[in-house]
This record gives sequence, C-alpha cells and structure tokens, in this order.
Amino acid sequence: MKDAQPNTVYLKDYKLPEYLIDSTKLHFELQPKGTLVKSQLKVRRNPAAGAGLPPLLLDGVELELLSVSIDGQLVPASRYQEIPAGLSIEVEKPEFELEICNRISPENNTSLEGLYLSNGMYCTQCEAEGFRKITYYPDRPDVMSKFTTTIVAPRQYPVLLSNGNEIERGATEDGRHFVTWEDPFAKPAYLFALVAGDLQRVEDSYTTASGRQVTLQIYTEAKNIGKCAHAMRSLKKAMRWDEEVYGREYDLDIFMIVAVDHFNMGAMENKGLNIFNSACVLASPETATDATFQRIEAIVAHEYFHNWSGNRVTCRDWFQLSLKEGFTVFRDAEFSADMNSRAVKRIEDVSLLRTQQFAEDAGPMAHPVRPDSYMEISNFYTLTVYEKGAEVVRMIHTLLGAEGFRKGSDLYFDRHDGQAVTCEDFVKAMEDANGVDLTQFRRWYSQAGTPVLDVTDSYDEASGSYTLTVRQSCPPTPGQKEKLPFHIPLALGLLSAEGKDLPLDEAGNTQLVLPVTEAEQTFHFSGFAEKPLPSLLRGFSAPVKVRYDYSSEQLLFLMRNDSDAFNRWDAGQRLAFAALGQLQKDYRNGKTLQLQPELVEAYRSVLRNRDLDPALVAKMLALPSEQTLAEEAERIDAEAIIEARKFARHALAEALKEDLLESYRRLHKDKPYSPEAADIAERSLKNTCLDYLCATEDADALLLAQQQFDKAANMTDCAAALAALVNYGNETDVDKSLETFYERWKLDTQVVELWFSLQSGSARWGTLERVQTLMAHPAFELKNPNKVRAVIGAFANRNFAQFHRTDGSGFEFVAQQVIALDKLNPQIAARLVIPLTRWKKYSSALGEKMRQSLESVMQSGKLSADLYEVVSKSLQ
Ligand SMILES: [Zn+2]
Repeated sequence: MKDAQPNTVYLKDYKLPEYLIDSTKLHFELQPKGTLVKSQLKVRRNPAAGAGLPPLLLDGVELELLSVSIDGQLVPASRYQEIPAGLSIEVEKPEFELEICNRISPENNTSLEGLYLSNGMYCTQCEAEGFRKITYYPDRPDVMSKFTTTIVAPRQYPVLLSNGNEIERGATEDGRHFVTWEDPFAKPAYLFALVAGDLQRVEDSYTTASGRQVTLQIYTEAKNIGKCAHAMRSLKKAMRWDEEVYGREYDLDIFMIVAVDHFNMGAMENKGLNIFNSACVLASPETATDATFQRIEAIVAHEYFHNWSGNRVTCRDWFQLSLKEGFTVFRDAEFSADMNSRAVKRIEDVSLLRTQQFAEDAGPMAHPVRPDSYMEISNFYTLTVYEKGAEVVRMIHTLLGAEGFRKGSDLYFDRHDGQAVTCEDFVKAMEDANGVDLTQFRRWYSQAGTPVLDVTDSYDEASGSYTLTVRQSCPPTPGQKEKLPFHIPLALGLLSAEGKDLPLDEAGNTQLVLPVTEAEQTFHFSGFAEKPLPSLLRGFSAPVKVRYDYSSEQLLFLMRNDSDAFNRWDAGQRLAFAALGQLQKDYRNGKTLQLQPELVEAYRSVLRNRDLDPALVAKMLALPSEQTLAEEAERIDAEAIIEARKFARHALAEALKEDLLESYRRLHKDKPYSPEAADIAERSLKNTCLDYLCATEDADALLLAQQQFDKAANMTDCAAALAALVNYGNETDVDKSLETFYERWKLDTQVVELWFSLQSGSARWGTLERVQTLMAHPAFELKNPNKVRAVIGAFANRNFAQFHRTDGSGFEFVAQQVIALDKLNPQIAARLVIPLTRWKKYSSALGEKMRQSLESVMQSGKLSADLYEVVSKSLQ
C-alpha cells in the first residue's frame, strides 16, 4: 500500500529526464513466488537536461533488490540508496552500463499492475506505471529505449512471448527453455509486455499495401480457441482501414493478441503484443451478443491503431494521455462508423458522453482533457480524456475537413515519428499543415466543464432575413471559476415548412459550420420567404449542451423531416425529455400520471416508417435513460425519475402494442446468425419491441419471450429474452430460466459474466439481496475485475432503481465492497466508488446517505493513493 496522503504531481513541474536509456536488456526467470529479473541498461546523461552528474533516480515499487553493478563491477551499498518508491544511484561518468538484479512475486500481485499470474498464465500490464513493479527503471513515457527480452521458464509454459520479433530459442541445462525477443523500435517502458503460459493459437497473415507479409496470431486457452475468428477478421479490417484512411502500415513481421481473464482494463496496445481482457476478444454467435461482437471489432481496431497513434508517436508525460487516447478513440469511432451504421454509432457515442462524461464534468473529479495535476494517474483514464478528447479531435476534423485533417495527421506522424510529444505538438501539426490558427481552439485542452449554448432566433418578414444569436457559457469546475469563450464549430441546417433543407449561402450549401468564438455572437442569413426552422449542432458537432426553445410541434417536425439522422433522433429525445419532465413534476405533486399523446403518436410513426434503418428506429424508440434524466436535473430526485420513466415505458407499450407485435413478428426470422450490420440492426429493433411488449406484463408477451429464450440459436436473442423475463416475468419461471441458462453455460466464463450482470442490473429482481447471494456464488471472484464489474459494477452503475433505494442500503453495500477491494486492487476500487461521489447533486435525504457511505470509506483505515484521491476530492 502506498502512503495515505500521496503527493500531487503538476504538469507545470515537468522536467526533462536527467538520463536516457539507449538500450534495455531484460532477463526473466519465471517463478510464481520468486521471479528473478536482471536488467542491463545502457545509460547516458541527457545533454539537454543540464550539466553535472546528478544521482540516477529509478522508480521501483514492491521489489526485492539483489544487486547493482556498473560496467561489470558490483556497486557497494554505500553508493546507492533505496528511497521511497525507488532507488538513487551515485553517478561518476556520463555513459555507463547498469545491471540490476531483483526479485518479484507474480503470484501475490493482485493489483494486476506489473507482472502477475492469471489462471496459471504469466502476463503484464505496465501502463501507466506498472513497469516499476517489475524492475527499477526511469518509468516515464519520455524515456524511450530499444528492448531485448529473454524469458526462461519451465516447460509447462510452452508459449513465451514479448514485444518485437523472436530472435532465439533453446533449452537451459536444467531442463527449462527460453525465448529471446528483440523490438527494433524504441519505446517507453509502459509498452513493454511479457506473456508465458500453456496457450493455443490461431494464425493468419496479412499483406500490407507495400506488399510485406505480416503473421497474425491470437493466443488463448485451448477451450476458447473456437472464439477467435471474429477478432481476427476485425484485425484485418482495421489494418486495411488504417492504410486507406491514414496511409499507415504495420511495421513488424508479427502481430500478436493474447486473451487474459484477469485484466483491469479492456485491452493494452503493447508493441506487437496486444494483451486483451478475454471479454474484449473472445466471441462466437452462441456465446456473444451483437453488442459484444461490435465492441470486439472496435477494441481490436483501437489497440491496433495505437501502433501509430501512441506507440510510434507517444506521450511526453501522462498529462498528455489524450494525445494518444483522444486521437485513437476518434480513429476507432470513424472505423466503426465505416463498418456499421454511422448514425447509430454516433448516437451511441453521444449517449455515453451525455450521461457519463457530462456527469464527470459536473462532479468533484472534473478536469480538462489535459489535466493540470493528479495524485494517481490511474484515476485519469476517464471519459473526459478518452471520449471528450476524441470529440476535440473530431472538432479539428470538422474545422479542417477530411482532406485537411489527413494533411495534418501525415505531418504529425512524419514530424514526430519515434518521439514522445504533447497535445500542443498535435495541434501545431494540424495548424502548420493547413495554415490555420487554432490558438483559441486550444482552450478545449485546458478548460474543464461542459459549455452551454443558448440559441435564439428572429425572422424579418419584410427583408426575408433570418438571424441566429448564440450565447456561450461554461459552469465553474474545481479550480476553474471563470472560463474564456471556446471555439465551437456549430453545424447548422435550416428547414423549410415542407421539411426541405434551405440554401444558407450564395454557393447553395444547405449545411454550414458556424464558428462560435465569442461569448455572444449573431449570424445572419437571407432570402427566406418564411421563417425557417433551425436544425442545430448537426451530428453533434461539438461536446456542448444546446438550449433552444423548440415547441412540441417543431420537434415532431424535425423527427420526421431533418436530413441529419442524428438530429432526428435528438429531436425525439428532446420531446421525450420534456414529457418525462412533466411526469416527474406530476409525480412529486401527487397528480395522476398521463403520457402526452403526441409522444405516443411520434413513436408510432417512427415504428411504422419502413424507410428508416431498423437500428436507428430502435434507438429512436428508446426513452432517455434514468442516468440521462439525472444528469440534466438541477437536483436529482431519484424516486421521481424512476417512477416517471417506468410509467412512460408502460404507457407507450400499452398504446403501441399492436405495432410492436407486428414489427416483432416481421423481424423474428429463422436464419443463421451473422454479425453483419443489417442483421444486427434487425435484431436490435426486434428485441426492443420484445422488451416493450414485456413491459405490459401481459401473459402473451411473456410467452413470446419465453419461446424466444427456449429456441434462440444465438446469444443476442437468448440474452434479450432472458433480460425481458428477468425484468417482467413471474418469479418462479424466471428462476427456472436462470437456472437452465447457468447449467448450459457454466463452463463459459464470458457467458457466466453476462448471467451475473443480467441479474444485478435488473431493476426488478436485481435487489440487493440477490446481488449479495451472487457474491457468494462459486463462480464469483473478488480478485477478478470482470466478475466485480458484472456483479457490483452492474448494480452501482446500471441499476439506477436499486442502487438508489431510499433506505441507503444500496450505497452502504457498494461502500463496503469498495473498502474490501481496495486491499486487493486499488484501481478497480477507485472506479467502483465513482457513483457515490455525486452526492451533492441529490435531494437532501438521499444525498446525505450517499455522503455517509463515502465518509465510511474514508474512515475505514489506510486507503490506497487511487482511492484516497477520489474520495477526498469528493468529500471536500
Ligand atoms: Zn487506448
């Protein structure tokens, strides 16, 4: 455990590294409790860092130091010192070879940072600061070095992998074996990886645009070997796409992916050896849902794209994390949009941003895309750095256009290949390649919070001119009271009374990107015979909130006519949002609840519209989530939100029963599974209809769900039916179905995780008691992050109704789990506590109960740095 009150690290304190490491030679002798690590480093004084020979400071955590040698001579203990979290060595010359031997215990490493064991397999996770748990090293991304790695292990671990190309293998005299890997590209330590285990592999190959042959391998346990085909297909698509869209080719002879069961994140882009959470790589139609298929395609692509945006050009320091993550999330989002439905992908990304990222912006941990300070960098792998960071890159793309953006990315990669750079360098390359000035735009990197645009308009009948006035503001965030105006690209269309896009300028463009740069700004358009209706922020062209006083009629009109698919969906969301707001108000005032008939009719016409992509229809039929409603509320009244939404769903289902049933029957086809976009779209609409039908709790509807569950040939249909039953079915039948499901799939880790999360996420049956029972289930394991996410995470993040029980028992439960987890895995504990940190936004009684739970975590004893940072900041 680290100290209870950790230090804060500031961006303004950045200093160049005192020493550079030209080459790193690592030698591992693997043992569960006593792995020996020998590292040989070619060290050189950094000429840019100043004169003299200061001591060499190396990071190291939980290491047993055995020896230190310089140029082949043992260094006496008087010339080095073990300091907190590292080693300080006296230096006598500007260049030397340092050899350090140390011992580590992978078996006892439950933090899953550094080298650890997962189901009898050795693996590593070094980003951000895990390498210091392997050996003493300048563990910072701006020290880039060429790595050679030798792994020695008993024969029971036949597969020994590391970064780069294999250069040697053989046997040792005592009957073990070894493999040596050499990575020709200099890289920071966070990209180092090692894997050893009894693994099987599937192999394929890829020919790059310039004709080079690359071997592709996916490694997994033997039982999962049949679940790798989709990941392999996705990898090849991603390699092709990066060549076509960014002109980037792969650069080693081999690219490997390994699936690991115990993993804190989704996946890790280690050079040439990506390590994946099993849940993000393994899939078959029988065991994985459509959502999983799409997630795998996106994550495989994301990690692959990092080879250029992250590995070849890396971050100077961790404040620049969004340099690689924001850019790479933007790249993978565009890839997914090209492979599937662009509008639906955009709706999904924006929904995530609006619920989770906007909430982050409004909470105690709010920070800019490039933070100014942190206590524990693991806490800054946030939606702000990733998703909002991607929106910032998307805005540059919008401002420069596809061609200009490509010129900028080409210059960025050429100029900085092999370097560790900053967000500033990225923006500069975009400016230089296009001859534009993005000075004001840079505020997106330094100012936190979600900007708000208040839009009003007027029309002058005599002259036919139309005026749009835009006021921007941004609420204060911790440490940033006043904000300067942002540079916001506002994509605009104007609709005629016939629902057609009107020309906005002399060139006849029907869509313009307005450059909003001032606190208040006016835009003039002319030549209209009548007042047009604005379609604002098309495609969600900036991560902001737009306020415009639309009437219900106008929103219905946009839902039907807007040529921008995203805004069609958004108009429906605004309409539903207003209806749900009224229901909440009525609920609080004890009035009888009644759903606005316009909303019912709007949903009916969407459902009957056969010209729309069924996936878009499914999205348009979904009411805003409880989290969205909570995020938008001034003060969160959880009970009113839950009751209003429940009522609206039920009322819609009753009113649309015939149409829902008709669509369900039409789309329920008996054909073999394929993860192609068109099929996924049909299944998503079909299962949306099924879920609505079951919300009526009619016996007929539940019978449909039961039949679909009994006969389903793919996991998408099976899980959707089971979810509907769990939410609305009769208790005895539900228990029987859950039991049948578990018996059939109990040997499949990913399906068991899905089985857990269906129960913990269910508003109806996912009561606390059930969640507690699940934690005692033999398949549950507190040491495994996927199981924690499936049971406790699903309850805290996705079960709005049960987590917010009025007696506060949901909060207490989560607080207790956070305390227990912090002793095993601080990163996961610090993530799990997040839903409790928003107590200030809640109505007083519930908010106070939330605060007390948080206080109980604070008082529970010595916390890890990860957890301490989140809890202390949110109690302030
Ligand atoms: Zn990433």
